[in-house]
Amino acid sequence: MYDVEAIRRDFPILAREVNGKPLVYLDNGASAQKPQVVIDAVTRGYAEEYANVHRGLHYLSNLATDKYEAVRGIIARFLGAPDPEEIVYTTGTTMGINLVAYGWAMPNLEPGDEIILSVMEHHANIVPWHFLRERQGVTIKWVDVDSTGALDPQAVIDAIGPKTKLIAITHLSNVLGTVVDVKTICAAAREKGVRVLVDGSQAAVHMPVNVAEIGCDFYAITGHKLYGPSASGAIWIARERMDEMQPFMGGGDMIREVHKDEITWNDPPMKFEAGTPGIVQQIGLGVALEYMMALGLDNIAAHENRLRDYARAKLDGLNWISVQGTTPDKAAIFSFTMNGAAHAHDISTILDKKGVAVRAGHHCAGPLMDHMGVTATCRASFGLYNTEGEVDALVDALELANELFG
Ligand code: PLP
Repeated sequence: MYDVEAIRRDFPILAREVNGKPLVYLDNGASAQKPQVVIDAVTRGYAEEYANVHRGLHYLSNLATDKYEAVRGIIARFLGAPDPEEIVYTTGTTMGINLVAYGWAMPNLEPGDEIILSVMEHHANIVPWHFLRERQGVTIKWVDVDSTGALDPQAVIDAIGPKTKLIAITHLSNVLGTVVDVKTICAAAREKGVRVLVDGSQAAVHMPVNVAEIGCDFYAITGHKLYGPSASGAIWIARERMDEMQPFMGGGDMIREVHKDEITWNDPPMKFEAGTPGIVQQIGLGVALEYMMALGLDNIAAHENRLRDYARAKLDGLNWISVQGTTPDKAAIFSFTMNGAAHAHDISTILDKKGVAVRAGHHCAGPLMDHMGVTATCRASFGLYNTEGEVDALVDALELANELFG
């Protein structure tokens, strides 16, 4: 049984008050809170087990290296990846996507080649491609979502032309909660020799992911949304793509030998990991993913889907707000505006007074905001520890905002 009250006790911060009210944390889309096991792992990592990795031959360095390297296997299991050596450590999705842009796309794409993006991408999956557009003459092709926020996979497939080299697409929208059928897109792309990068920042939090089943080439995740430390993360890269890649950043660890006139690279994945990494952060991420897998990724998804249905019914009852993104199978992420009566920032300030933490703004999704014709929304995003009572608290706080601004 999924005992959400017991799970909540694993997260010490959830017991605190904010503005004199119990914290109702609904900003999981931005970053999730950490369970005690992760906090303990980070503390232990620094207090008892810290040294640099891969370098020393002393006890602590070997211990830190073993714990740090073991996380590759945990991430591979979490993502259904065939080989831990295909897991490259990053500081998060932003770094993962930039690694693909600099390491794979820059050496492999030519002027006039095309990259397909959906209109609901996060800036982390837009700006690196603008670099290629500006510096390398690559063209970006955009695919729209429909009025429910759904993305028709066929629309993405239809956008593929003879010059298309890459589709870079989110698996789950951080604004609308829309789930994208990346498997169908990947199957068609593979037939046409087009590579697919999936931004799994949100999807991996809310649903089980299996990269082998999806059939993509790159799958990026970010640790701080997965109940792990900030500046932890990974990208899964199919072996054949790794072989086509240049290193992105240069420095220690990613080389085998360096001489005055000659340099040789380390083997992947270390070829793509320059400098001292986030040692304790990655160890903490491993603990966070083990924590999620122990709860059961299907169980987490089922719990959040119940919350989604409950929240949808409650929010639908508030006829003075508009929810953006109405696909039935979306994740428990609700963006809304108050029908022009108040700015998203003002609404979130009122909610904060009631202890309810939501995000307000453009959510790093400028093209989607343009597409929806808004400049900002409020976003309530749920996680594995949220409850129906917290949905009620959100609705009560919104009633107050309506009294003040409506
Ligand atoms: N992609 C999506 C869909 C996101 O929601 C986020 C974070 O909000 C990112 C990318 C960027 O993740 P990070 O800032 O952790 O690198």
